[in-house]
Amino acid sequence: MQFTWLVPIFLGWLAGWLVNYLADVLPLTRRLSQPACLHCQTPFAWSDYLTLRACRTCGTRRSLRAWIVPILAAASFLYLWLFPRPGLGLPLSLIVLTYFGVIIVIDLEHRLILFPTVIAGAVLGLITGTYLFSKQDGILAGLFTSVLGGVAGFAIMFLFYKLGEAVARYRARRMRAAGQAEDDEEALGGGDVYLSGVLGLMLGWPNVILGITAGALAGGAMGLLAIAAYLIQRRYAENSLMTFMPYGPALVLGAFYILYFF
Ligand SMILES: [Zn+2]
Repeated sequence: MQFTWLVPIFLGWLAGWLVNYLADVLPLTRRLSQPACLHCQTPFAWSDYLTLRACRTCGTRRSLRAWIVPILAAASFLYLWLFPRPGLGLPLSLIVLTYFGVIIVIDLEHRLILFPTVIAGAVLGLITGTYLFSKQDGILAGLFTSVLGGVAGFAIMFLFYKLGEAVARYRARRMRAAGQAEDDEEALGGGDVYLSGVLGLMLGWPNVILGITAGALAGGAMGLLAIAAYLIQRRYAENSLMTFMPYGPALVLGAFYILYFF
């Protein structure tokens, strides 16, 4: 291990903290508030929060995620430092990865794509897309490619959203007929439509098509894993249609693959 490796490891750890912080406060308060214990709501002292200490009031320990995210982030930053992605460049590849981390953690834990993260993502997506696609034909062409990708990403997912609404209505009718209580499970959340627009800005046109396809494949793979888990637990029959599919993380994984490895 070389001394310089400490730089990406440290930066990655910081990025992991940032992801943890935003995932802790944004879904609950919708602003950059003081982080508080999830169990007793006592605000953390910053020094306790950053050193991942248990809550001093109720003793509840920090979640496993508080540890996993910085470790994963430090490892990914080191990887990107050692094997920089052509095109994106090191600073943007680190920032975009951190952004993806925020989206994935919040969506997995709360099934939410939050509006502030969409706005921040739109700005970051426009910068990323324009940077990527202005190398050949200048900044206006890059901006155009990025915006076109964003519009396409939004429009394609909007169609799927409408389709999902129709499926949900059909499902609600069947559940009523079967005498079951309705739930408000959306096949594809409205947030995914905005997220797809953000990812489209980053990927540009026509790569947004590849990104969404890769996302659908990732989503399909996750779905198969979920079905396998239910089969093992022998609850497949009751639960197959009611399983939550995290489409946001799948879309992000697809975009990540196209942006970093395609
Ligand atoms: Zn507490």
